[in-house]
Amino acid sequence: MTPILFTKSQELQRWRSSLPNNSSLAFVPTMGALHAGHERLIQVARTYASVVVTSIFVNPKQFNNPADLAQYPRTLDTDIDICEQHHVDAIFAPTVDEIYPVEGIQAISAGRIGDLYEGEFRLGHFAGVLTVVDRLFALLLPDFAVFGEKDYQQLVVIRQMSSVRHPTTCIISVPTVRDPDGLAISSRNVRLTRDDRSVATKLFEALCFIQDRYQSGTITASQLEALGQEYLSQFKDISLDYLVCVDALTLLPIANIVERAVVLLAATVGEVRLIDNILLEPSDFAT
Ligand code: AMP
Repeated sequence: MTPILFTKSQELQRWRSSLPNNSSLAFVPTMGALHAGHERLIQVARTYASVVVTSIFVNPKQFNNPADLAQYPRTLDTDIDICEQHHVDAIFAPTVDEIYPVEGIQAISAGRIGDLYEGEFRLGHFAGVLTVVDRLFALLLPDFAVFGEKDYQQLVVIRQMSSVRHPTTCIISVPTVRDPDGLAISSRNVRLTRDDRSVATKLFEALCFIQDRYQSGTITASQLEALGQEYLSQFKDISLDYLVCVDALTLLPIANIVERAVVLLAATVGEVRLIDNILLEPSDFAT
Protein backbone atom coordinates (compact mmCIF):
# COMPACT_ATOMS: atom_id res chain seq x y z
CA MET A 1 0.00 0.00 0.00
CA THR A 2 1.23 3.51 -0.78
CA PRO A 3 2.23 5.32 2.41
CA ILE A 4 0.07 8.26 3.42
CA LEU A 5 2.00 11.42 2.64
CA PHE A 6 1.66 14.27 5.13
CA THR A 7 3.09 17.70 4.56
CA LYS A 8 1.20 19.49 7.36
CA SER A 9 1.97 18.98 11.05
CA GLN A 10 -1.67 19.25 12.09
CA GLU A 11 -2.76 16.51 9.69
CA LEU A 12 0.04 14.28 10.91
CA GLN A 13 -0.99 14.88 14.53
CA ARG A 14 -4.66 14.21 13.76
CA TRP A 15 -3.73 10.90 12.09
CA ARG A 16 -1.42 10.03 15.00
CA SER A 17 -4.16 10.55 17.54
CA SER A 18 -6.58 8.42 15.49
CA LEU A 19 -4.33 5.33 15.74
CA PRO A 20 -5.68 2.57 17.99
CA ASN A 21 -4.43 2.71 21.59
CA ASN A 22 -2.85 -0.71 21.32
CA SER A 23 -0.71 0.20 18.29
CA SER A 24 2.93 1.09 18.68
CA LEU A 25 4.74 3.55 16.46
CA ALA A 26 8.36 3.49 15.28
CA PHE A 27 9.81 6.58 13.66
CA VAL A 28 12.73 6.86 11.22
CA PRO A 29 13.79 10.49 10.71
CA THR A 30 15.78 11.14 7.52
CA MET A 31 16.79 13.89 5.15
CA GLY A 32 15.65 11.83 2.17
CA ALA A 33 17.74 10.59 -0.79
CA LEU A 34 17.05 7.21 0.75
CA HIS A 35 19.65 4.47 0.37
CA ALA A 36 20.38 1.02 1.78
CA GLY A 37 21.32 2.50 5.18
CA HIS A 38 17.91 4.14 5.55
CA GLU A 39 16.22 0.98 4.28
CA ARG A 40 17.87 -1.03 7.05
CA LEU A 41 16.58 1.47 9.61
CA ILE A 42 13.06 1.09 8.24
CA GLN A 43 13.33 -2.71 8.37
CA VAL A 44 14.50 -2.56 11.99
CA ALA A 45 11.69 -0.11 12.84
CA ARG A 46 9.16 -2.65 11.56
CA THR A 47 10.48 -5.28 13.98
CA TYR A 48 9.64 -2.96 16.91
CA ALA A 49 6.24 -1.55 16.03
CA SER A 50 3.01 -2.06 14.13
CA VAL A 51 3.12 1.41 12.59
CA VAL A 52 6.21 2.84 10.87
CA VAL A 53 6.61 6.50 9.99
CA THR A 54 9.49 8.08 8.05
CA SER A 55 10.18 11.77 7.84
CA ILE A 56 11.92 13.38 4.91
CA PHE A 57 13.15 16.84 5.76
CA VAL A 58 16.39 18.53 4.77
CA ASN A 59 16.86 20.53 7.95
CA PRO A 60 18.50 23.88 7.16
CA LYS A 61 19.36 24.44 10.82
CA GLN A 62 21.92 21.63 10.82
CA PHE A 63 23.87 22.90 7.81
CA ASN A 64 26.49 25.52 8.51
CA ASN A 65 27.60 25.55 4.88
CA PRO A 66 24.99 27.00 2.48
CA ALA A 67 26.62 25.23 -0.51
CA ASP A 68 26.27 21.87 1.24
CA LEU A 69 22.59 22.60 1.90
CA ALA A 70 22.00 23.66 -1.72
CA GLN A 71 23.76 20.56 -3.09
CA TYR A 72 21.98 18.12 -0.80
CA PRO A 73 20.16 15.58 -3.04
CA ARG A 74 16.36 15.78 -3.06
CA THR A 75 14.58 12.75 -4.54
CA LEU A 76 11.10 12.68 -3.00
CA ASP A 77 9.39 10.53 -5.67
CA THR A 78 12.01 7.76 -5.45
CA ASP A 79 11.96 8.05 -1.66
CA ILE A 80 8.20 7.45 -1.64
CA ASP A 81 8.69 4.34 -3.82
CA ILE A 82 11.34 2.99 -1.44
CA CYS A 83 9.08 3.61 1.55
CA GLU A 84 6.26 1.82 -0.24
CA GLN A 85 8.50 -1.21 -0.91
CA HIS A 86 9.18 -1.38 2.81
CA HIS A 87 5.51 -0.97 3.81
CA VAL A 88 6.04 2.34 5.57
CA ASP A 89 2.63 3.50 6.83
CA ALA A 90 3.16 7.25 6.61
CA ILE A 91 5.72 9.75 5.37
CA PHE A 92 6.03 13.22 6.84
CA ALA A 93 7.63 15.55 4.29
CA PRO A 94 7.05 19.06 5.64
CA THR A 95 8.24 22.42 4.34
CA VAL A 96 10.71 24.47 6.36
CA ASP A 97 7.90 26.82 7.46
CA GLU A 98 5.88 23.90 8.74
CA ILE A 99 8.72 22.80 11.02
CA TYR A 100 9.82 26.30 12.03
CA PRO A 101 6.55 28.29 11.89
CA VAL A 102 7.86 31.17 13.96
CA GLU A 103 11.17 32.97 13.91
CA GLY A 104 13.32 32.20 16.85
CA ILE A 105 12.08 28.70 17.74
CA GLN A 106 14.34 27.96 20.65
CA ALA A 107 17.39 25.93 19.66
CA ILE A 108 18.19 22.97 21.87
CA SER A 109 21.80 22.91 22.92
CA ALA A 110 23.74 19.66 22.75
CA GLY A 111 25.90 20.84 25.68
CA ARG A 112 29.62 20.25 25.81
CA ILE A 113 29.62 17.15 23.58
CA GLY A 114 27.97 19.18 20.84
CA ASP A 115 31.09 21.36 20.60
CA LEU A 116 33.52 18.45 20.25
CA TYR A 117 34.70 16.53 17.15
CA GLU A 118 32.02 17.03 14.47
CA GLY A 119 30.67 20.03 16.41
CA GLU A 120 34.04 21.76 16.20
CA PHE A 121 33.99 21.59 12.42
CA ARG A 122 30.27 22.23 11.96
CA LEU A 123 29.35 24.98 14.40
CA GLY A 124 25.76 24.72 15.59
CA HIS A 125 25.23 21.41 13.78
CA PHE A 126 24.08 19.39 16.77
CA ALA A 127 21.84 22.16 18.09
CA GLY A 128 20.20 22.08 14.64
CA VAL A 129 19.83 18.31 14.77
CA LEU A 130 18.39 18.30 18.29
CA THR A 131 16.01 21.14 17.53
CA VAL A 132 14.45 19.29 14.60
CA VAL A 133 14.42 15.87 16.29
CA ASP A 134 12.77 17.38 19.39
CA ARG A 135 10.15 19.06 17.20
CA LEU A 136 9.47 15.85 15.23
CA PHE A 137 9.22 13.77 18.42
CA ALA A 138 6.79 16.30 19.91
CA LEU A 139 4.56 16.08 16.82
CA LEU A 140 4.66 12.32 16.41
CA LEU A 141 5.08 11.00 19.97
CA PRO A 142 6.92 7.88 18.77
CA ASP A 143 7.26 4.82 20.99
CA PHE A 144 10.52 3.99 19.19
CA ALA A 145 12.87 6.10 17.10
CA VAL A 146 15.54 4.47 14.98
CA PHE A 147 18.93 6.03 14.19
CA GLY A 148 22.10 4.81 12.47
CA GLU A 149 25.43 4.31 14.18
CA LYS A 150 26.94 5.85 11.05
CA ASP A 151 26.33 9.26 12.67
CA TYR A 152 27.61 8.11 16.02
CA GLN A 153 27.99 11.47 17.74
CA GLN A 154 24.50 12.41 16.59
CA LEU A 155 23.17 9.19 18.10
CA VAL A 156 24.79 10.01 21.46
CA VAL A 157 23.47 13.59 21.64
CA ILE A 158 19.98 12.44 20.60
CA ARG A 159 20.01 9.74 23.28
CA GLN A 160 20.93 12.36 25.88
CA MET A 161 18.33 14.90 24.73
CA SER A 162 15.61 12.30 24.39
CA SER A 163 16.19 10.76 27.82
CA VAL A 164 15.30 14.13 29.34
CA ARG A 165 12.72 15.60 26.94
CA HIS A 166 11.08 12.44 25.53
CA PRO A 167 11.60 9.73 28.15
CA THR A 168 8.82 7.54 26.74
CA THR A 169 10.51 7.28 23.34
CA CYS A 170 12.96 4.39 23.14
CA ILE A 171 16.00 5.11 20.95
CA ILE A 172 17.12 2.18 18.80
CA SER A 173 20.51 2.19 17.07
CA VAL A 174 21.41 0.27 13.92
CA PRO A 175 24.97 -0.66 12.83
CA THR A 176 26.38 1.14 9.81
CA VAL A 177 25.46 -0.33 6.44
CA ARG A 178 28.48 -0.47 4.12
CA ASP A 179 29.17 -1.09 0.46
CA PRO A 180 31.01 -4.38 -0.20
CA ASP A 181 34.37 -2.52 -0.19
CA GLY A 182 33.66 -1.17 3.31
CA LEU A 183 32.71 2.41 2.47
CA ALA A 184 29.88 3.56 4.74
CA ILE A 185 26.85 4.27 2.58
CA SER A 186 25.96 7.97 2.56
CA SER A 187 23.83 10.28 0.44
CA ARG A 188 27.04 12.24 -0.15
CA ASN A 189 28.90 9.32 -1.80
CA VAL A 190 27.29 10.08 -5.18
CA ARG A 191 29.40 13.25 -5.27
CA LEU A 192 32.68 11.27 -5.12
CA THR A 193 34.57 10.87 -8.41
CA ARG A 194 35.63 7.32 -9.31
CA ASP A 195 39.17 7.91 -8.05
CA ASP A 196 37.98 9.59 -4.85
CA ARG A 197 35.52 6.76 -4.30
CA SER A 198 38.39 4.30 -4.24
CA VAL A 199 40.51 6.51 -1.93
CA ALA A 200 37.52 6.88 0.40
CA THR A 201 37.64 3.15 1.21
CA LYS A 202 40.91 3.86 3.09
CA LEU A 203 38.89 5.48 5.88
CA PHE A 204 37.27 2.20 6.89
CA GLU A 205 40.57 0.42 6.28
CA ALA A 206 42.17 2.74 8.84
CA LEU A 207 39.37 1.99 11.32
CA CYS A 208 39.79 -1.77 10.81
CA PHE A 209 43.55 -1.39 11.23
CA ILE A 210 42.97 0.35 14.58
CA GLN A 211 40.53 -2.35 15.64
CA ASP A 212 43.08 -4.99 14.71
CA ARG A 213 45.82 -3.28 16.74
CA TYR A 214 43.43 -2.99 19.68
CA GLN A 215 42.57 -6.66 19.48
CA SER A 216 46.29 -7.44 19.40
CA GLY A 217 46.81 -5.63 22.69
CA THR A 218 47.24 -1.88 22.14
CA ILE A 219 44.80 -0.30 24.59
CA THR A 220 46.19 3.24 24.89
CA ALA A 221 43.81 5.60 23.11
CA SER A 222 46.53 8.04 22.00
CA GLN A 223 48.57 5.21 20.47
CA LEU A 224 45.56 3.91 18.55
CA GLU A 225 44.78 7.43 17.35
CA ALA A 226 48.39 7.92 16.18
CA LEU A 227 48.32 4.58 14.31
CA GLY A 228 45.18 5.58 12.44
CA GLN A 229 46.43 9.09 11.68
CA GLU A 230 49.71 7.70 10.38
CA TYR A 231 47.90 5.13 8.23
CA LEU A 232 45.78 7.83 6.59
CA SER A 233 48.70 10.23 6.11
CA GLN A 234 49.94 7.92 3.28
CA PHE A 235 47.07 9.12 1.12
CA LYS A 236 47.53 12.66 -0.12
CA ASP A 237 43.93 12.92 -1.31
CA ILE A 238 42.60 12.42 2.21
CA SER A 239 42.46 15.50 4.38
CA LEU A 240 41.73 14.37 7.92
CA ASP A 241 39.73 16.67 10.21
CA TYR A 242 39.91 14.46 13.28
CA LEU A 243 40.44 10.88 14.36
CA VAL A 244 39.79 10.25 18.06
CA CYS A 245 39.38 7.22 20.27
CA VAL A 246 36.90 8.07 23.04
CA ASP A 247 34.43 6.56 25.49
CA ALA A 248 31.51 5.12 23.51
CA LEU A 249 28.82 6.29 25.95
CA THR A 250 29.98 9.78 26.90
CA LEU A 251 32.30 10.53 23.95
CA LEU A 252 34.76 11.99 26.44
CA PRO A 253 38.50 11.37 26.03
CA ILE A 254 40.01 8.29 27.67
CA ALA A 255 43.57 7.26 28.44
CA ASN A 256 43.15 3.49 28.06
CA ILE A 257 40.30 1.38 26.76
CA VAL A 258 38.64 -0.36 29.67
CA GLU A 259 34.98 0.15 28.71
CA ARG A 260 33.45 0.16 25.23
CA ALA A 261 35.20 2.80 23.10
CA VAL A 262 34.56 4.30 19.69
CA VAL A 263 36.94 5.67 17.09
CA LEU A 264 35.38 8.65 15.31
CA LEU A 265 36.81 10.19 12.20
CA ALA A 266 35.97 12.83 9.62
CA ALA A 267 37.90 13.57 6.45
CA THR A 268 37.47 15.30 3.14
CA VAL A 269 38.13 13.21 0.06
CA GLY A 270 38.11 15.29 -3.11
CA GLU A 271 35.21 17.68 -2.56
CA VAL A 272 33.27 15.48 -0.20
CA ARG A 273 33.39 15.42 3.59
CA LEU A 274 32.85 11.94 5.02
CA ILE A 275 32.47 10.61 8.56
CA ASP A 276 32.85 7.08 9.86
CA ASN A 277 33.49 5.23 13.11
CA ILE A 278 34.17 1.84 14.61
CA LEU A 279 33.36 0.43 18.04
CA LEU A 280 36.06 -1.21 20.14
CA GLU A 281 34.53 -3.75 22.49
CA PRO A 282 36.53 -4.93 25.50
CA SER A 283 34.92 -8.35 24.98
CA ASP A 284 36.78 -8.56 21.62
CA PHE A 285 40.07 -8.21 23.42
CA ALA A 286 42.24 -11.29 22.80
CA THR A 287 43.96 -12.09 26.09
P1 AMP B 1 20.28 11.25 7.04
O1 AMP B 1 19.22 11.11 6.03
O2 AMP B 1 21.67 11.26 6.48
O3 AMP B 1 20.02 12.37 8.02
O4 AMP B 1 20.23 9.93 7.90
C1 AMP B 1 19.03 9.50 8.50
C2 AMP B 1 19.34 8.33 9.37
O5 AMP B 1 19.94 7.29 8.60
C3 AMP B 1 20.33 8.66 10.50
O6 AMP B 1 19.92 8.01 11.69
C4 AMP B 1 21.63 8.10 9.98
O7 AMP B 1 22.55 7.73 11.00
C5 AMP B 1 21.12 6.85 9.25
N1 AMP B 1 22.10 6.39 8.26
C6 AMP B 1 22.65 7.10 7.26
N2 AMP B 1 23.55 6.34 6.59
C7 AMP B 1 23.55 5.13 7.19
C8 AMP B 1 24.27 3.90 6.97
N3 AMP B 1 25.16 3.78 6.01
N4 AMP B 1 24.00 2.88 7.80
C9 AMP B 1 23.10 2.98 8.81
N5 AMP B 1 22.39 4.10 9.06
C10 AMP B 1 22.62 5.16 8.27
